[in-house]
Amino acid sequence: MKPAPFAYKKARSLDEALSLMAGEPEARLLAGGQSLIPALNMRLSAPPLLIDINGIGEIDEIEVKDGTVSIGTLVRHAQAERDETLARSAPLIARALPHIAHPAIRNRGTMGGSIAYADPAAELPACLLALGGEVVAWGANGERSIAADDFFRGLFETALSPGEIVTGIRVPTATADSRFGFAELARRHGDYALVGLAASARTNGRTFRDMRLAFFGVGTTAVRTLASERALSEGDIDAAVASLDLAPADDIHATGAVRKHLAGVLLRRVAQQLMRERP
Ligand SMILES: Cc1cc2nc3c(=O)[nH]c(=O)nc-3n(C[C@H](O)[C@H](O)[C@H](O)COP(=O)(O)OP(=O)(O)OC[C@H]3O[C@@H](n4cnc5c(N)ncnc54)[C@H](O)[C@@H]3O)c2cc1C
Repeated sequence: MKPAPFAYKKARSLDEALSLMAGEPEARLLAGGQSLIPALNMRLSAPPLLIDINGIGEIDEIEVKDGTVSIGTLVRHAQAERDETLARSAPLIARALPHIAHPAIRNRGTMGGSIAYADPAAELPACLLALGGEVVAWGANGERSIAADDFFRGLFETALSPGEIVTGIRVPTATADSRFGFAELARRHGDYALVGLAASARTNGRTFRDMRLAFFGVGTTAVRTLASERALSEGDIDAAVASLDLAPADDIHATGAVRKHLAGVLLRRVAQQLMRERP
């Protein structure tokens, strides 16, 4: 199918993008286009105007400063995948990136686009949640940051206000006591995950603290499982699996019961990673 007709404008600055959005409330931002263009082609979305943000400078960089990794919204998945600083400072994200789609899609798809799109089966929203990161947004009232815990509100729904642009994400820099785990199950490598899990914690070598388990593909957003986090912090994997408070729905890919079973399988794998591995 072909998309419905739309106008196209290329913004050269954040302010220009903001003013274009203010003039057309139904406009959509075009970043990597890897989710938006298929949606237009299938006529699931028919915005009157696309505002291309690919010409805006200074939002395509990765920077590590004062214990924080800042990733600009236009950083491509492939660029992040090859970035040695990111691999050292945010190894959970580096580990998740190769699971996103295929190389051709990762060459165009952007870090901010993935976060703003908020697909419940996507890897990066779950990583952001597991890391306790934040989303940086730019709007008519200037810049604000939104904690990942508050950003993902529902199915493809976020805390962004109309007319706001994601300019980047921030996560804490990994330290010697950080531990991370990542696993997902998909029918074929590159498909969206049936179920996935991103995890982070700190350890003194004997016990864990700041445990954050973020499952994806099991609800309308990535979700933390607080009872399992508590059990796993005490080293009790069986109790962590038994207390998984997930209720995935049935769909054409799997029943909710299968997904919940797979979540337990992944939790056991990720628990082993957390207990054995250094960043
Ligand atoms: C075959 C296929 C397989 C895929 N598999 C996976 C997968 O396994 N895992 C996964 O996570 N993703 C997958 N994707 C999606 C891919 O990762 C997308 O690139 C990503 O979800 C969106 O990023 P984008 O830059 O392409 O955004 P776009 O498609 O350009 O935009 C997506 C949405 O976000 C909005 N948006 C974009 N940037 C901003 C911004 N800065 N501020 C506010 N709103 C913004 C747009 O207006 C649009 O509504 C797949 C895509 C395809 C086509």
